[in-house]
Amino acid sequence: TSVVNRIAAGEIIHHPYNAVKEMTENSLDAGSTYIQIELINSSLGSIKIIDNGRGIKMDDMPLVCERYATSKLKEFKDLLKLETFGFRGEALSSISQISNVIIVSKPRDNPYGYQKKALRSPTEERRHILDVIKKYAIHNPTVRFTLKKDNSTEMSTQATLSTLDRIQQVYGASVSSCLKTIEYADSRCQFKIMSSDPSDPNYGRHNKKAYRLIDNNKIKKEMKLVYTGITNGINPPFIYVSLKVEPSHVDVRLLNEDEITDKITTALSANISSPTR
Ligand code: ADP
Ligand code: MG
Repeated sequence: TSVVNRIAAGEIIHHPYNAVKEMTENSLDAGSTYIQIELINSSLGSIKIIDNGRGIKMDDMPLVCERYATSKLKEFKDLLKLETFGFRGEALSSISQISNVIIVSKPRDNPYGYQKKALRSPTEERRHILDVIKKYAIHNPTVRFTLKKDNSTEMSTQATLSTLDRIQQVYGASVSSCLKTIEYADSRCQFKIMSSDPSDPNYGRHNKKAYRLIDNNKIKKEMKLVYTGITNGINPPFIYVSLKVEPSHVDVRLLNEDEITDKITTALSANISSPTR
């Protein structure tokens, strides 16, 4: 993942031609000697690319549309002797975020081919949108948010000064009533955690789904581990973390991630305790 972090530059697909460029580069990277590009409805309907390159290994199929999945770079120093167009592993993931992708491949030494589909579903899309709006709503309680879908209101909040009130508006009292607030500051970072307290009698009432308010995988994973140790992982917690660090400690990622994760989990462990029931 350190390679991943260092090459994390946004590769954004703005137009169909960006997608064609990326897919053509992929075909060239795969050693193709024939590349056929077919535009259906002048590229706005769909774009079909066929090549005769080395293909995609069956094991790699589920990964190719994941962010940062690349078969072209093993360690950071490989960047200095790169002979391929692609190395970031962002093109297919970006393309699959905004369009329906079907990949069919048969590597030369494989007897048969196989297919992977990354199809967008409107329900899933709506859920992602709701999810991200909820995150921003919690982090900005003074801003009034309304999310409408067709003619119905999916989410609507009142402006408030209190994060706790906002969490109640967005996730309900079953979540907000058993939160514990933990605050921490030193010269390198500041954070505020609002997270479910397993010793609260209401803990777990909300627990139907895991809330994903932190997009840093390492912090997320380690915080979950603290909870698993205490609750045996039966009820997923609600966790909100507001983290402030010096700008010099962030490029596209958190630079002192390990240190910060450590401080957060230490503070969390010291403040939550086992269910009393
Ligand atoms: P990158 O090219 O930066 O590695 P992409 O998102 O463009 O990332 O592609 C992801 C991976 O999918 C590639 O690393 C490669 O392994 C595989 N791939 C994509 N297109 C092709 C292709 N036409 N032929 C063979 N492999 C491909
Ligand atoms: Mg590529």
